[in-house]
Amino acid sequence: MLRDAVVTVASDGRWRGVRPARADDGPAHEGLCVAGLVNAHTHLELSGLVGRVPGGEGFQAWASRSVRTRPDPTVPDGAARARELVDRWGTAVVHDVSNGGHTGPWLVAAGAQGVVHHEVLGRDPAQIARAGAVVAAGVVPVGRGVVRRPSPHALLSTDPELVADALAVGGPPGTLHVAETPDEERLLVAGEGPVADWLDRLGRRWRRGPPPGVDAVALLDRLGVLRRGLLLVHGIHLAPDALRRAARAGAVLTVCPRSNQHIEGRVADIARFVAAGGRVAVGTDSLASSPTLDVLDELPVLAEAVPEVPMETWLSAVTSEASAAWTGGAVGVLQLDIASPADLARGAPTRRWLARPGTV
Ligand SMILES: [Zn+2]
Repeated sequence: MLRDAVVTVASDGRWRGVRPARADDGPAHEGLCVAGLVNAHTHLELSGLVGRVPGGEGFQAWASRSVRTRPDPTVPDGAARARELVDRWGTAVVHDVSNGGHTGPWLVAAGAQGVVHHEVLGRDPAQIARAGAVVAAGVVPVGRGVVRRPSPHALLSTDPELVADALAVGGPPGTLHVAETPDEERLLVAGEGPVADWLDRLGRRWRRGPPPGVDAVALLDRLGVLRRGLLLVHGIHLAPDALRRAARAGAVLTVCPRSNQHIEGRVADIARFVAAGGRVAVGTDSLASSPTLDVLDELPVLAEAVPEVPMETWLSAVTSEASAAWTGGAVGVLQLDIASPADLARGAPTRRWLARPGTV
């Protein structure tokens, strides 16, 4: 962090340089000037479910309520929420997970950049065949600074070979939900538990050979896709060994603490992951499990849940994709009305764009 510095920015919001201030630079902006924020995990297409899916009884209960809940047509839709992400919350880069892969134009119209993760899932041969077309399409440009790529939903819902094929696609990092429920590890290690029972009840032909016999991180490693930059979302129930393995590989633990508290009543063992040298990112998850799409609303929750990790680490996490290749680094400059990163622990500050991202 620099005090009394001058940031020079191109007309498209790209950072050109930072230098110490000189006497003839003119009046300074107060507060903290940072790159536009990164929301590393959300689902814009679930925006109509705001406040409608109660939690507190674990992932399984929440997930089955969420698929039964119908969107409220009177609340702003995903396109409006994408505009809110940029205009109100100061977000420049978004990792949006979409079943239909159709949310990219919302990001482009809002002036956001980032990745639409076209979600593939399924353990049944017919589902796997349908997902093949999404994987075969690879990385697809959607518009300025926005690309679409395949990413698997989770190892509990997706055939391991399909997970490997989707994540083997190059380009910007892929993502998947990991260890959001303890039932995932029971399924992977022993092929049993509530997820196995549920797949059986649905009549899915998913038992193709013995279970992998290992946790999610070890399985991703075995599949050859546990690599630098992979966004492992939630990780609530990852054991110490798995966290250390993920940290060593350079995977990014992507936490959504308000959603995690709402659904599972706890967050991942983030302090252990950070102590092992792991890199973290912050997402909001969707409005079906979180009241806003503002990543800075997540930081007071993290300050309380993981006091060992300083706010500087979180500020860096929510601004760290400033130079990612697919954005071209055109992430703008955001002014936060706080004196130091530590103030972020008390609540999300007001903010305004000094230079908007991607504007020419
Ligand atoms: Zn999610």
